[in-house]
Amino acid sequence: MTSTPRVAVVTGAARGIGAATARRLAADGHAVAVVDLDESACAETVSAIKDSGGRAVGMGADVSDPAQVEAAVARVVEQLGAPTILVNNAGIIRDNLLFKMTVDDWDAVLSVHLRGAFLVTKAVQAHMVEAKWGRVVNLSSTSAQGNRGQVNYSAAKAGMQGFTKTLAIELGRYGVTANAVAPGFIATDMTRATAERMKISFEEFTEGVAEQVPVGRVGQPEDIAATISFLTSEEAGFVSGQVIYVAGGPAD
Ligand code: NAP
Repeated sequence: MTSTPRVAVVTGAARGIGAATARRLAADGHAVAVVDLDESACAETVSAIKDSGGRAVGMGADVSDPAQVEAAVARVVEQLGAPTILVNNAGIIRDNLLFKMTVDDWDAVLSVHLRGAFLVTKAVQAHMVEAKWGRVVNLSSTSAQGNRGQVNYSAAKAGMQGFTKTLAIELGRYGVTANAVAPGFIATDMTRATAERMKISFEEFTEGVAEQVPVGRVGQPEDIAATISFLTSEEAGFVSGQVIYVAGGPAD
C-alpha cells in the first residue's frame, strides 16, 4: 500500500486490535500516537514500533474526558506533528441482560465508545480540515445488529455507524473520509473476558465460534488492522461513510 507518511492517533492501542493497528500504521510509514488509559501500558506497543524502525509515542488519556483528550491531542501535535489519521478503537464491555444491567454499566459503555469517539474526533478534525486531508476509522461491531446480553454495547456500536456516516457527510468537502470497521469475533482480551463470564475456556469458546464462521476460524487483531490500513491509505479516498464488516462471512 503506498502512503504519504502522516501522523496517526490510535485510541485503546495498548493491546488487542488497537495495538495491532498501531503497529500496522507504523509499518505503513506513519508516526503513531499510541493512546490508552494508562501511559505505562502503551510501552509494549511503542517499543514494538520503535524496534521495527517506526516512530511512536505513548500517551495516557481517558477518551471520555474532554480535558484529557484536549491535552493528549496537543501533545501529539507537539511531539509528532498535526494528526490526520484517527482510529477510534478504545472500548469496553459491561455485558448483562437488560433486566440486570445497571445504569452505571449502560453509561460506562456509551461513554467510552460514543462520547470518546466524539471527543477525540472533534479535537483531531481541526487538524484534518486545516490539512485538507484526513482519514477517520471508527470501530463498530457485528453486535450493532443485536447481541444477547449487550444492549449497551450494541447500542453504542450501532451509534458508531450513524456517527461515522454523519462525519463522512460533514467532512468530505475537506478531503476527510470516515468509515467504520465492524469486526466479528476477534481473539483479544475482550473476547477472553466474555469466555470467563460464560465460565468456559477460551479455546472451547473460539472453537465453537469458528464452526459458525464461513471461513472456519475466528479473527485476529491483524485482520482488522489490515482493513484499517486500506481505509487510511491514499487509495481509499473515494470510500467514505461505509461500514465494512470484517467477520469471515456476510454479517449485514
Ligand atoms: P481490548 O483488548 O479490551 O482493548 C481495548 C483497549 O481500550 C484497552 O487497552 C483498554 O484499556 C482501552 N480503553 C478502555 N477504555 C478506555 C478509555 N476510556 N480511554 C482510553 N482507552 C481505553 O479490546 P479489543 O478486543 O482490542 O477491541 C478494540 C475495539 O474493537 C473496541 O472498540 C471493541 O469494542 C471493538 N471490537 C472488538 C471485537 C472483538 O471480538 N474483540 C469485535 C468487535 C468490535 P484498559 O486495558 O486499561 O481497560
